[in-house]
Amino acid sequence: MTSATDLVIAGAGHAGSELALAARQAGWSGPIVLLGDEADLPYQRPPLSKAYLCGKADLEALALRQASAYEAARITWRPGTRLQAIDRERRTAHLYGGEALPYAKLALCTGGRARPWACEGLDPQHPPANLFALRTRADADALRAALRPGSRLAVVGGGYVGLEVAASARDLGAEVCLLEVQPRLLARVAGEAMSDFIAGVHRAAGVDIRTGAAVQRVVVSGGRIERLELADGSALTVDLVVAGVGMLPNTEAALAAGLANEHGVVVDECSVTADPDIVAAGDCTVQHSALYDRAVRLESVPNALEQARAAAAWVCGQRKPNHAVPWFWSDQHGLKLQQAGLSQGHDRCVLRGDPGQRQFCVFYLKADRLIAADTVNRPADFMLVRRALGAGALPRVDPVALADERIPLKATLAAGV
Ligand SMILES: Cc1cc2nc3c(=O)[nH]c(=O)nc-3n(C[C@H](O)[C@H](O)[C@H](O)COP(=O)(O)OP(=O)(O)OC[C@H]3O[C@@H](n4cnc5c(N)ncnc54)[C@H](O)[C@@H]3O)c2cc1C
Repeated sequence: MTSATDLVIAGAGHAGSELALAARQAGWSGPIVLLGDEADLPYQRPPLSKAYLCGKADLEALALRQASAYEAARITWRPGTRLQAIDRERRTAHLYGGEALPYAKLALCTGGRARPWACEGLDPQHPPANLFALRTRADADALRAALRPGSRLAVVGGGYVGLEVAASARDLGAEVCLLEVQPRLLARVAGEAMSDFIAGVHRAAGVDIRTGAAVQRVVVSGGRIERLELADGSALTVDLVVAGVGMLPNTEAALAAGLANEHGVVVDECSVTADPDIVAAGDCTVQHSALYDRAVRLESVPNALEQARAAAAWVCGQRKPNHAVPWFWSDQHGLKLQQAGLSQGHDRCVLRGDPGQRQFCVFYLKADRLIAADTVNRPADFMLVRRALGAGALPRVDPVALADERIPLKATLAAGV
């Protein structure tokens, strides 16, 4: 039973866990209830496609914090509980199963789920036994159990999750073919130099990368996918398929309560929704970015944590707007890939360094202003870009100086106005 002095948090992932602990630290004195619809203690999702899938990290290593950390902060973690609906007037959260929890403040940290892959030959009511998605620990366990050395794996979708799965599966000795419908990998988020580099690294590791490859039909036999038929007339015989076709934000309760649009739960820079008693953080949210002057929904751990901290401050009566620069990392075939800023809308790419040496940056410019960078094995350059973008405005940069390794990057970025 909760009372109207409670902070009720729906979703026990990166955002929910952080929000609970940050709220306690910021002075929330009443009960804090953390509802999670999964069975595990809040855990890290990034290793699911990396170390955990390869068997290099176990379940214990995934946990964001030990159970004792929640106990010490007097946070009641309730696994297997799912928010169904919000009664804003009565400030009550309704759970599946019928329970009603009154709240003083409610936080929506419900993340997202894997976007179902729709293709001719697939019946959503009867998913084939060898078709996998990767969003949860249970998904990773199922995939890991099915992967064998020599397994013929098709990965549908060349986004970050698909690419990481391909790399990990190669590591485990599978025969991997990655199918990307766009003419190049990461076409939506990265420039050509980066796409070519990533494709080259995967090919060198033995991944069969096929771009411009549209799966037209899935042939299922005995409840398993047997073959993928491609639009170019070719076919691929498979043992298993991973669909990495993106995610959908979990917004049903927020939508019904008038707090979300089709992109996510709408929050401001303090992570507050249209209802001052309801905050939201993480993958389920959409927020206006002052830096890019548009609404963005970010799928990254750093964003989940920053939004959660802003939300925790708000529920405790403090205003701590979050203007953090979006950033993201990925590990593939031993490479440290880091991205600062958002590259969508760039009109120019500038390369600094030599992809052949596996150490370089791709800078994304729009109207001569730096909007983002991809860095490969260059953490110091990544930090410089993050800092430059975090100064409040997109810096104007000299593309020639940016490309010139003889000029320190710090100096080039500092010259920007
Ligand atoms: C395989 C994989 C690899 C990734 N790698 C990276 C990476 O390298 N770097 C990076 O920055 N990001 C990475 N991400 C993204 C990152 O994991 C997410 O951005 C992050 O998990 C977002 O945290 P969240 O708390 O918003 O959502 P989640 O972590 O998804 O947590 C939300 C939780 O809420 C639960 N929930 C949903 N609905 C309800 C409900 N109605 N009631 C109660 N609970 C509910 C969900 O089951 C889930 O447990 C990766 C994601 C995946 C899947």
